[in-house]
Parts: sequence; structure tokens; C-alpha cells
Amino acid sequence: MAAMVGLARDRCLPGSYVVRALSDASDRDRMRPSGAGACRRAKPRECPMRPAELNPFFRDLSDLGGVGPKTVKHYARLLGRGTGEPRVADLLFHLPVDVLDRRARPEIATAPHGAIATLTVRIGRHEAPKRRNAPYRVFATDETGELAIVFFRAQPEWLQRLLPESETRVVSGKLEWYSGRPQMVHPDHIVAPEDEDDLPTIEPIYPLTEGLTARVLAKTIAGALASVPELPEWQDRGWLTKNGFPTFHEALQCLHHPKDETDVAPAAPARLRLAYDEILSGQLALALIRRRIRRQSGQARAWDKDRVAAIRSALPFALTGAQSLALKEIAEDVAAPHRMLRLLQGDVGSGKTAVAIETIAMTVTSGAQAALMAPTALLARQHFEAIGPLFARFGISCRLLVGGMPAGDRNRTRAGLDDGSVDVVIGTHAMFQEDVTFRDLGLVIVDEQHRFGVHQRLALSEKGPSSDVLVMTATPIPRTLVLTTFGDMDVSRLTEKPPGRTPVDTRTVPLSRLDDVVDRLQAALERGEKAYWICPLVEDSDVVELSAVTERHRVLQARLGDTVGLVHGKMKAADRDEVMGRFRDGDLKVLVSTTVVEVGVDVPDATIMVIEHAERFGLAQLHQLRGRVGRGQRRSVCLLLYKDSIGETAKGRLTVMRDSEDGFVIAEEDLRLRGEGELLGTRQSGVPGFRLAVPEAHGDLIAAAHDDARLIIETDPELTSERGQALRMLLYLFERDEAVRLLRAG
Ligand code: ADP
Ligand code: MG
Repeated sequence: MAAMVGLARDRCLPGSYVVRALSDASDRDRMRPSGAGACRRAKPRECPMRPAELNPFFRDLSDLGGVGPKTVKHYARLLGRGTGEPRVADLLFHLPVDVLDRRARPEIATAPHGAIATLTVRIGRHEAPKRRNAPYRVFATDETGELAIVFFRAQPEWLQRLLPESETRVVSGKLEWYSGRPQMVHPDHIVAPEDEDDLPTIEPIYPLTEGLTARVLAKTIAGALASVPELPEWQDRGWLTKNGFPTFHEALQCLHHPKDETDVAPAAPARLRLAYDEILSGQLALALIRRRIRRQSGQARAWDKDRVAAIRSALPFALTGAQSLALKEIAEDVAAPHRMLRLLQGDVGSGKTAVAIETIAMTVTSGAQAALMAPTALLARQHFEAIGPLFARFGISCRLLVGGMPAGDRNRTRAGLDDGSVDVVIGTHAMFQEDVTFRDLGLVIVDEQHRFGVHQRLALSEKGPSSDVLVMTATPIPRTLVLTTFGDMDVSRLTEKPPGRTPVDTRTVPLSRLDDVVDRLQAALERGEKAYWICPLVEDSDVVELSAVTERHRVLQARLGDTVGLVHGKMKAADRDEVMGRFRDGDLKVLVSTTVVEVGVDVPDATIMVIEHAERFGLAQLHQLRGRVGRGQRRSVCLLLYKDSIGETAKGRLTVMRDSEDGFVIAEEDLRLRGEGELLGTRQSGVPGFRLAVPEAHGDLIAAAHDDARLIIETDPELTSERGQALRMLLYLFERDEAVRLLRAG
């Protein structure tokens, strides 16, 4: 709290503070009527379908009184609107993070240092500055002692009016003791005893931005609150009562006029109510989109059970319980007339490929085609090599389609997909961007979804408007985040690992012991082991990243000889594949690399994973990297090298890695330690964020809202009931206009 106060003050120059304080009282009276008048006149931003009741929420902030063009720019920055004009709702959803408590009423002698105090004092002598830049002091007393009230660059006449000698005043602000004397610099409030009711006892503290002071913000928020009407209730009333939640309008009022610090805490009823509103709007929108996609298309498929069983028994292992269960869920989707939209979540090495193989087998033996999309050409090739021969044995034609292939091969594959003689295609997203047509694309499998953006997801569904979609991800996204990111999908999880994997021995080692590490590595290579050596990721600088990895390669090569290979993201794909191939099957024993090996690469006899500057990686990423080893019978080691002077959180994260091999546990911890955005790499994938809900604090609400949204869509699919109408308003309020449009088109 103290820090926030400090922040608010620091950003307010002493001189301008006084001027603002001076005009404050008169301002307040002047602004109210004109502010309201401005609201009535103002035209809300256009939106033909949005219910008129919502217009006040979408009015430009500058339509409120007292918000000039300069201030609007500050608000745009504060409210994350970029160049767009911030609107009333944006401001109303800017919630306080704490409160400033003025209820402490100590006497001068007993007032604690550094705390906010409200004191009733008798004003004594004024002491004008003796030199330039010296402060102006006003001395004030009570029974117990004397207080210096200090001003910088103040107008003496104004101070004489504000603090008239021999009168009593109530002053409130931060009190500090210096060499045994109490002083208060620029009190926040000064009122006459008869006006004491004007003195706020609890003030909300908001995040601020340069150029905006707490006072200005508070004033605008008050105007904004006064300008919006109550809305019909969209939540279930019984549920609200049960939870003790206020109405939407009450919740806003309560949060912006807190009575206590608990009123603004993440677990406060008003906060939960608004978070739930936001989350429900998202879940409802996703439920509507899913229903739309399902109804619009989809096909019931009947596959050749015997052939599928034969393919299954051709696998060199029996399926795990988790794989069988996932396949049962998938089979139900494929057989049903709706379109499958399923996320298959499985930790690295959990055996997603086998599930993909059988899903493809179902689709192909039902007479349709299947596509498997991998994030890189290397991975596409790896899948192709693993899957192609197996399918060939059963007369299923499987082709690879990646960039850089000879034109003849590509054209043959394209022709085969077009006329239906090719059953399965494995490739990168390039196959969906290029001019590829399918005779009957029945299934799209996307491996390692988190690498793909939303656009690719859309592009692929255009190639097969009725095709089933199975997204496989190794990112162990916690359930709460699955719902926010993939809320439109059903989820199957591979929670059990195939038998025969040996646990990886993970150790954290300071970088200062690099020499020891290289010695041990050398010994291991002599025993015939293979190692990955991953170099730090340097954001926003390919050059630095490259120099780190090439330098490490040079040093290791000098120590260990020609068995050290190098791959990085700036190499040509073909060169990279060649080096990877030599590491998998040939002369290379150590592979120095940036994170290009992160996803899916399979070199079963690699047993050592060294990660330099492990503290710079996300936990999910470290977990993926570590998953590259421990694939065979031999004991594997993962060494997390960290910078010697890392902080507590960073150390804690590495400890989590050391102590757990469970991707889901790691992901939950990562979420707890770092929050949502970084875990998912929000920047690339464009996951829509929340304004009101904080996944860490409101995660449980996401699951509840998910179920709630499903129930709503089941009982009132077109949102026509009274609650349904109110829910439409909720969707508009949180700008889910797209979803409402689906209803109309319905
Ligand atoms: P991922 O989920 O990371 O894609 P893979 O499908 O590549 O995992 O499988 C990892 C390894 O486990 C492969 O070598 C695969 O052959 C093996 N595997 C998969 N399923 C089983 C199983 N049921 N029993 C034994 N080994 C399996
Ligand atoms: Mg895989």
C-alpha cells in the first residue's frame, strides 16, 4: 500500500499538486452538473445491434466532463486501448488494487512514522521560505505536540486562506518524523471541522500512469459510475444469493467505493461477481461458436473395425489405459454426426502418436482422407517415417508434403489428394496454405498446437469444412487455461505414461561449475552416451542468440572434438535436418542447439540434456526439453545450469523442475509463479486476456462458467428467455458481438 501511495505522489509534481488542490473544491462543484449534461448529449459509438441500454458503457471517455484530449491519451495508455479511444466501460473495469485508509486519528505525539494519519489541529504561525526552493512551513498543534505542514513552491496567499492562523483544521496525509519532529508534506486533504464529512475515510488506490493523478482518475470514475444505468440480471438469481454476490451495478459501486481493504481483494464478492461475468461471457461465446460449428457440418463415420484392430495390433506395444480411453472418446466423436473438436493433452512421451495413428485409421477406413500437421518439416518427416511404413502394410497410401520437396513429388501428392488416391498426408501448415485440394478431407490432426496461431486453425478448417479436428498438445496446460484457450473443444488427457520409461535425474548446477560439467560430459561420451546442449534464448535478438550458441559450439568442439554438432533456427531447414540426422543415427554425439529441438524430436539413445541459463526458460519449455531424454532403458540426466546470482522465484522454479517430472504439476506451479501470459506465450498465440478475472485467483470460476454456459445453451439455445436476453447483453458488454451474431444467423 505504501508503495502505491508513493507512486501516486511521485507522479504528481509538488508544484502542480498545489495548483490542483487549489482548484479542487471549486472544480468538484463545477464538474458534476456539466459532466452529467455532457453525458446526455454525447453520442455513443455506433453499433446497430447492441441494446440501447448498453450505450452509456460504450460512450467515449472524452464525452464525460473534464476529460480533455490530453487526458484521453493518458487514459488510453492506462486502459490498454492503444490508439483507440477509451470508453466508459474500460474505465469502470479499471479496478482498485488496494485502499488508502484514513481512519487512523492519532494525536501528534503518538502518530506513527510513515503512516497515513488524520489529525485535528490548531493552525499556528506560517513560515515563508527564507531561500529560493526552500519549503513553506505552517506549524500546527494539538494537546500533545507540534506538527510542521510543509509545502514546496506554494502560493502564500492561497496557503493563508487554506490554513488560517488560530483556526482548527482537519488534515490528512502521510506523517513522517525527522530528527524527533513530525511533519506532513503536502497533506492529501485539509478541511474545516464542520466539513469533516467531506473527508473520505477509505480511498481506493488504482494503478496509475504518468500524467494521470489519483485525484483526476477518481473524479472521472465517479462521473463514469454516475453515467451508467442498472442492467437486467443475467446471472442465475439463486446462485447469486447462495454466493452472496451483489448485482453487476452494485459490484461496480462497491469496488470503486470500498469500505474496507477486503472490499477490493480478489476474493471479495463484488470482485468475484465481475470476474464471473467476464468469464461467463467468454465461455458462453465459445459454447455458441462450438454449437455453430457442430451444427453447420460434421458427418457420422462408420469405419472398418477389423482393419483398425489389425493396425492396432501391428503396433509394437499394447496401448496404455489412458490411450485406450482417449480413443474411446475419439471413436464416439467420429461415429457421431457432429464434428469432432477435441484436444488431446499428453505430456511429452505419453504416446500421442499411437492415438493419432488409430484415429487416422478410423477415418481412412471409413473412406475419407486424413491430414496430420506438424509444426516443423523435421517433425513432419519424423511422423512420416514412423507412420508411413505401418500404413503401407495395410494398403493405406501415405505421403509427405513439406516445403523444399522436388516439384514432381509435390505435384504427385497434390494430384493424389485431389483425386483421392492418397489417403493420408503428413506435413507442415504449408499444405494448408498452398493450393492443395482434397477429395474428402475427413480428419485434421494438429500436433503441438501451441505452436500454431489461431489463423492456421481457421485455415485448415476451410480445406475440409466437415472434417473432424484433433489437436494434440504436449503443453500441459492446466484445466483452467484449457477452458479459456480451447474452451470450444472437448478434452482427452493422456495421464499415464507408457511403461518402461526411466525417470530423469534432474540437477541444478551453477554456471560457475561449467568446467566440471564438461568433464562429466566427456566421461559420459566415452561410455557411449549422447547429449543435447541447449543454449539460452535471448528474446528480440537473433544475433545474440546465435553468438551464444555458436560460441558454445566452438568451445565444446575444442574440448570434445568433431563429434559436436550445431543446429539453430537461422539455418536452412535442410541443413538442420541433416545435422539432426547425424545426431540421431550417425557420427555426432553432442548436439548444441537453440530451442529448435524443443518439440517432438525423438532420439531414443540420447541420455544427457544440458540447459544453459535454465532460469531464462519457461517451466513448460524446460519440461519439454527434458522430455527429449529418458526415452530408452538407460538412466538419463538433465542438468539445469543457472546464473549464479538468480533471485528466489527463479530458484524456486528450478526447484520445481528438479523435484517433479509431472508436466501437469509443473504447469500448475508455473502458473502460480508466473501467471497466465508467459506460460502460454500469449504474445505469439494471441490468447485473449482477461480484464477483470485473474486466473490465479478466479480459476475455479472458469470451470463453473464452462458448465454454466453448456447448461444455458442446452436449455435456451437461442437465448430468447428473459435471462437469455440479459445474457445477450452480457455478451455485448464484454464485446463478444461475434457470438451474438451467430445467434441471429443461427
Ligand atoms: P508423444 O506423446 O510425446 O508424441 P510418442 O507418441 O512419440 O509420444 O511416444 C513416445 C514413445 O513411447 C515412442 O517411442 C512410442 O513408441 C512409445 N509408446 C507409445 N505408446 C506406448 C505404449 N502403449 N507402450 C509402450 N510404448 C509406447
Ligand atoms: Mg509427439
